[in-house]
Parts: sequence; C-alpha cells; structure tokens
Amino acid sequence: MSQPYKRAFIGLGSNLSDPGNQILKAFAEFGKLPQTRLLSSSSLYRSAPVGYAEQPDFINAVAEIETGLTPHQLLDALLDMEHRHGRVREFRNAPRILDLDILLYDDLSCHEHGLTLPHPRMHERAFVLQPLHEIAPSCIIGGHGGVEECLEKCTDQRVERVEG
Ligand code: AMP
Repeated sequence: MSQPYKRAFIGLGSNLSDPGNQILKAFAEFGKLPQTRLLSSSSLYRSAPVGYAEQPDFINAVAEIETGLTPHQLLDALLDMEHRHGRVREFRNAPRILDLDILLYDDLSCHEHGLTLPHPRMHERAFVLQPLHEIAPSCIIGGHGGVEECLEKCTDQRVERVEG
C-alpha cells in the first residue's frame, strides 16, 4: 500500500575503496530506489575515526530524499545498498566501504527493534551535523533541538570540508 511521500535525511560514511566515489555513487543510487527521489546532497567532509582509531579517516556526507517507502522499507533498501557496495560487517566501529544511516524520517520518533529515529547518536557527531547543517540549517533534531545548537557542542571534533 502506498503512503504519502515523506522527507528523510540519510547519513553516509566510507573509509575504504575510494571513499569519495562510494559516497557519490550512493547519492546517484538513492534516485533509483522505488518511490524515492534525491532532493539535495551535501559536500563531502573528512573526519577522524570514532572509537577505533587505527584506521583511515572517513569521508562523510548527508543526503535529503523524498520517499514513499516506510521507515523499515527504507532501512532495508539502505542495508541492501551497503551490501551491493561490498560492505562486510566485522566489528563495531570497523573500517567500512559504505555506511548508511537514516538520520531523520519526517518528524517521526520511534524506538523499535532494529530502528531508532531520530538516529540515536546523530546529535553528538560533528561529521553528521556539519553536512546536515549545510543542506538544512534550520533542521530540528527531535529531543535535542536545532542542528546549529547541537553543532556548537561538538567543536572539539575534527571535521573538514573536502574541496573540489
Ligand atoms: P551500523 O551499520 O553499524 O550503523 O548499524 C546498522 C544497524 O543499526 C541496522 O541493521 C539497523 O537495524 C540499526 N539501526 C537502528 N536505527 C537505525 C537508523 N536510524 N538508521 C540505520 N540503522 C539503524
């Protein structure tokens, strides 16, 4: 059954196999998912790895999409996309070819098996907040306030925009 189109934000990250290219390919693939259209995409950002430090820097970005998929259908489609890019799940915070997270789905708040929205760590990660702020500066993260306000609390995290 189809439902009205909703706006969602997806966080992307990669630190293996030509990361910038993995992200650019994923942007193009959003538009090929069923009932889904890419509305905008941020610049690419370089960030230091979180948790397990002995790995290459990450390239991160955020995409804004419009979709008729339900949150769970969208999550399944993103997991499938990660798989097609060759992602292998090794251990928590391991290097990865492509990581896709649903950051926000309309103004939905949910905490279900396998899906938490807004994404539970997005408000404390500068590598998510900075690209999100670029494409949606007035965005509100349910339970945490505005993206700008959250970003002000993460000034100790190194994130730089990739030029060109
Ligand atoms: P990871 O790839 O390590 O970020 O973990 C992916 C898993 O986190 C997925 O299999 C989901 O079941 C779960 N998950 C929970 N909430 C979210 C979300 N908002 N976006 C993406 N994955 C989520």
